[in-house]
Amino acid sequence: MTPLPFTPAVGDMDFTPKQRRLLTLAHDLGRDKFAARAAQWDQTATFPFANYDDLREAGLLKLCVPESHGGLGADYTTYMMLAAEIGRFCGATALTWNMHICSTMWTGVLADGIDMTAEQRAEHAVRRELHFGRIVNDGAIYAQPFSEGTAAAAGRAPFGTTARKVDGGWLINGRKIWASLSGAADYYGVLCTEDKGNQHPDARDTLYISVPATSEGFSISGEWDPLGMRGTVSRNLAFKDVFVSDAEQLMPRGIYFKGAQTWPAMFFTLSPTYLGVANAAYDFTVQYLRGEVPGEPPIKRRQFPTKQITVAQMRIQLEAMKSLFSRAILEAKPNPSKDEKMRLYAAHYSVMEGANDICRLAIRTCGGQSMLKHLPLERLYRDSRCGALMLPWTAELILDRMGRETLYEPGEKDES
Ligand SMILES: Cc1cc2nc3c(=O)[nH]c(=O)nc-3n(C[C@H](O)[C@H](O)[C@H](O)COP(=O)(O)OP(=O)(O)OC[C@H]3O[C@@H](n4cnc5c(N)ncnc54)[C@H](O)[C@@H]3O)c2cc1C
Repeated sequence: MTPLPFTPAVGDMDFTPKQRRLLTLAHDLGRDKFAARAAQWDQTATFPFANYDDLREAGLLKLCVPESHGGLGADYTTYMMLAAEIGRFCGATALTWNMHICSTMWTGVLADGIDMTAEQRAEHAVRRELHFGRIVNDGAIYAQPFSEGTAAAAGRAPFGTTARKVDGGWLINGRKIWASLSGAADYYGVLCTEDKGNQHPDARDTLYISVPATSEGFSISGEWDPLGMRGTVSRNLAFKDVFVSDAEQLMPRGIYFKGAQTWPAMFFTLSPTYLGVANAAYDFTVQYLRGEVPGEPPIKRRQFPTKQITVAQMRIQLEAMKSLFSRAILEAKPNPSKDEKMRLYAAHYSVMEGANDICRLAIRTCGGQSMLKHLPLERLYRDSRCGALMLPWTAELILDRMGRETLYEPGEKDES
């Protein structure tokens, strides 16, 4: 097959015809529309609505909705390839698109790989039809607010936001922090703990419920002026006796907890954005050192050996990131082996820390003028810093998991 006319952010892989078509669509959209707008969302710290109109028109909001429900039926691997491509042109768009896409992927292809009783499967089939329909027919946008500023989003405690069963639905109370797409989403896919009266809250009782933005008792608050990923508009959410109907349950009771155990790759979906950012920093560096950045004086800096060495170092790191990333997306599945899980952690860590490292090297070698605000490098540098902070797989928690899971088999303890 003839190679694509561009090298995708994910690298050269053995793409299917569908992947080639979708990657080309994402690449063209990013290059022709998103790249030029990225500075605007960053400067004003506002949500990239215009990009979402384009994503909707291109069918990319329904990318992972199954074809049987009117979507494009992309699988996990294909989504990860496209997310990296979008991230290359606008990090905030790719990261928020991830939250939206996950709400269709978790209820779609991931849910298909989680054990459910026949009754749960039937309940889920009916509910997801409603939810997919909103995206396919109305172009609805979903957010994924999990974080609460506690150990819950790290997977170490039950969520403090609660849902109590009432007649015909659920009553939700609590708060979330860092909710990307706040004010832009039509629905907020909230993780909360079922309030069973006087029992102790248990992470096994985590519910995944969609809260319509128009719900009474739902509010958004807080300042928004962060270092990077400023277009994500990740503000605070509050839920005060918010009633949602049973139909808003995005997964049957108990299934989210099982899913998180079964499908670790569900948390890897934050990384392609940052692989895209790393590619952008590398691409910019090559262009800059060759004196080929549009609108800039054609000053070449490529003749200095130190700059050649840095570009080589950047490329080595980028190739290592891409290799690990592409292997991890190809082998992502329910119940991975121990080696596959370790590779997944290693891939996530390498991308999240590597993206910032590549941006750091890019600024150092391109030099002072390259970090002026009219060029994208300083934004890429700031955006790249955010990936390693994202729960549940922050860079610190990945090290924690890898070390422990390498040295202890499940259930093993030390003699005291
Ligand atoms: C650009 C950006 C966009 C984001 N978008 C979203 C979004 O859409 N939805 C969403 O839910 N979140 C989102 N987040 C939030 C993110 O996932 C984290 O929840 C957030 O960055 C955590 O901030 P913190 O200061 O509370 O972190 P931390 O203090 O690092 O962690 C939070 C808590 O987790 C626990 N914890 C941390 N490390 C450990 C450990 N080693 N062992 C045990 N417990 C530990 C601690 O109790 C700690 O208080 C976003 C973050 C960023 C940067």
